[in-house]
Amino acid sequence: MIRKSSSDTSAIKDVLNKLSIDELNIKGKRVFIRVDFNVPFDDNLRITDDSRIRSTLPTINYAIDEGAKVILASHLGRPKGKPDPRFSLAPVAKRLQRLLDKDVLFAPDCIGPQAENLISKMKGGDVVLLENLRYHAEEEKNDEGFAKSLSALADFFVNDAFGAAHRAHASTVGIAKFLPSAAGFLMKKEIEYLKGVVENPIRPFVAILGGAKVSGKIGVLEHLENKVDKVLIGGGMAFTFIKAMGYEVGDSLVEADMVETAQRIRKKLKNAGIKFYLPVDCVIAQTLEPGAETKIVPTLEIPKGWKALDIGPATVKLFSEALENAKTILWNGPMGVFEIDAFSRGTFSIAHSVADAYALTIVGGGDTDLAVHRAGVTNALSFISTGGGASLQLLEGKELPGIAALTDKNP
Ligand code: AMP
Repeated sequence: MIRKSSSDTSAIKDVLNKLSIDELNIKGKRVFIRVDFNVPFDDNLRITDDSRIRSTLPTINYAIDEGAKVILASHLGRPKGKPDPRFSLAPVAKRLQRLLDKDVLFAPDCIGPQAENLISKMKGGDVVLLENLRYHAEEEKNDEGFAKSLSALADFFVNDAFGAAHRAHASTVGIAKFLPSAAGFLMKKEIEYLKGVVENPIRPFVAILGGAKVSGKIGVLEHLENKVDKVLIGGGMAFTFIKAMGYEVGDSLVEADMVETAQRIRKKLKNAGIKFYLPVDCVIAQTLEPGAETKIVPTLEIPKGWKALDIGPATVKLFSEALENAKTILWNGPMGVFEIDAFSRGTFSIAHSVADAYALTIVGGGDTDLAVHRAGVTNALSFISTGGGASLQLLEGKELPGIAALTDKNP
């Protein structure tokens, strides 16, 4: 039932001690592949970005080529446990059909007689997409009966939904109790980069952290403590650190309850010999509105009533120079409020510096993923994670339930 992997010598072996899809004999078998097809839609229910679908194509194509009966399942949005046409996966089935250049059958419910009937007629290489798992409240409750019903549709379970791997749901964790369970290629790649490379980086290893809050990234900072050579901090979170050093930051974002923690972490990193860079200048405004008046000032000269919303040009230069000798770069969190043009330049400039570096470059999911897409540098990066919450949890050194549930390599 289980065969030897063709990728036994890969770096992944050390970090993912779980079965992978290429270790299963899936020919002619029903394979339930949990994917993350939680794609964004516009008001007319048109898909605005299909990269989540594209990123799992290697796993789907592999299963088709191996002659498996491919059963795909995903969540989409938050339909609150009941059917809601706004969250139907039907448009995803159409897009997938185009991407695969082959028929994709759509089951209007993820369990029950219609799905069973459709699956019973499948031949090797056929593809069925099940309707949104979250039409059933039992999915998010990791209900055992629901997980069992899902498992009854298949012979094997493959999890390729990295973006949902930090959640213990019926289709990510519960189902694995009932079937031999393996990781898909996307899942493997995510672990290889976010865990494998980060745990054993080629040095110098530079981490760039940004985003709104220190509290969101503190776990990552603590985990990277013994691994990085430099930490560059931008975004709103920088101002809690600057406040902690005793300086005023105007009306910039400060998390009062994190000031002490910020000070403790900065000292700890300093004592460990890690270089710690903060913005030396910023783009400031009195309001967040797109047309608001802006100024560039040194970080220690932000007036009352003004807030820092992006890193300034001197900081871009400083950070870019600090990146120059890096061999590994990890970037998680924007340098400013990049959603608004006036405050996007710092983030986009850093995106270009990361892309230009002669280094292995890893970008965390969520906002940073969007930022590098907008900056147009995606092709010049080594890896962009498809998971926001899941990538953060891995970078914090935590176990992901969706991975822990898979079958061990040597049970
Ligand atoms: P996070 O989810 O913590 O990575 O935060 C991402 C958000 O941080 C983005 O939506 C940015 O607009 C926001 N952000 C970045 N820099 C700042 C800043 N200086 N002040 C307020 N918000 C910021």
